Amino acid sequence: MKLAERVQALTPSSTLAITSKAKALKAEGHDVIGLGAGEPDFNTPDYILNAAKKAMDEGKTKYTPAGGLVELKDAIINKFKRDNELDYTRNQIIVTTGAKHALYTLFQVLLNKDDEVIVPIPYWVSYPEQIKLSEGKPVFVKAQEKNNFKLTPEQLEEAITPKTKAIILNSPSNPTGVLYSVEELKALGEIALKHDLWIVSDEIYEKLIYGNENHVSIASVSPELKEKTIIINGVSKSHSMTGWRIGYATGDEKVIKAMSNLVSHATSNPTSIAQYAAIAAYEHSEEEVDKMKKAFEERLNKLYNWIIEIPHVTCVKPDGAFYLFPNVKEVVKASPFNTTDEWVAQLLEEEKVAIVPGSGFGSEDNVRLSYATSLDQLEEAAKRIKRFVEKYS
Ligand code: PLP
Repeated sequence: MKLAERVQALTPSSTLAITSKAKALKAEGHDVIGLGAGEPDFNTPDYILNAAKKAMDEGKTKYTPAGGLVELKDAIINKFKRDNELDYTRNQIIVTTGAKHALYTLFQVLLNKDDEVIVPIPYWVSYPEQIKLSEGKPVFVKAQEKNNFKLTPEQLEEAITPKTKAIILNSPSNPTGVLYSVEELKALGEIALKHDLWIVSDEIYEKLIYGNENHVSIASVSPELKEKTIIINGVSKSHSMTGWRIGYATGDEKVIKAMSNLVSHATSNPTSIAQYAAIAAYEHSEEEVDKMKKAFEERLNKLYNWIIEIPHVTCVKPDGAFYLFPNVKEVVKASPFNTTDEWVAQLLEEEKVAIVPGSGFGSEDNVRLSYATSLDQLEEAAKRIKRFVEKYS
């Protein structure tokens, strides 16, 4: 039996191979440290759990409007006012089954066959596959490490063709953790406006920003940019709610309406109980969110120092999210391994540390380390990585 061409073209997830090998080693009794996770290691805060329990007890377990509960949309509207000084109406918001589903649905309604979407490298693994599933064409532009992995206005201008429909910005970024400044967003935004492009602004790591940096949504830079920006966000990373599957897209009313029509035939509403939990997440003070952020910040500062102490490893210091994206090009070159993928596989085999090779993010010279695990584990992992590097250099 031959499956449809659209699924034959899908690239398997780069994290999958390493994760399943790490699991197998763990099952054999090995002391494996997993730095592959894309989710916070904290429990969902109690006040959110209680809101979900209450919703169940009150029988709020039925269909909701396909695009989400009005009460949740209102909580999201308040969040935008409070955090981003942006005003939206209910018709400009759709609640989806995680931010991933918001992105998938957005590409489905925006793209015709062969429409191009500019995807800066390094990218989050699902962008290219989702664009291809919508018959669009990802156009990759390598954001240079010397520019802190940020796309420059010149690079954007150069990549635009008459077929370009949209550009994706992910700030702070998975996998690099870097954040675009207001000036940088403004410069990129001007070019996008000049060519009438949609801006897909993935702001899922908005709440995880460290030091003195602040998150700015490109939609808040000017009214013109607000009109052309669809913001993607959700509670997965901010409130440690990855399993609840609540995300949303916000922006142009026509786009959001088309997305709501589409999901009404595909999934209907996201889980009702999870939507009530998300209302609580946004209506409560951010005390718990800040606690998680502080823990991540401490880990980042320590892990970053441990990693850059390793000979020949360099690393752009992230501003946010919970990943480091060190460059191991020189280390791999000095080793007997041919590629970063092989080097990463051997690191797991010998030192039992699971990290993700950069190839899945379009960046062969790097590896992604997630610090969504305890400081003790991070310290031990850094020691093992250092030992491995020294052995093969
Ligand atoms: N966007 C980025 C950059 C991510 O890293 C992730 C999750 O890993 C998502 C979107 C998807 O988030 P969700 O779990 O809400 O679908």
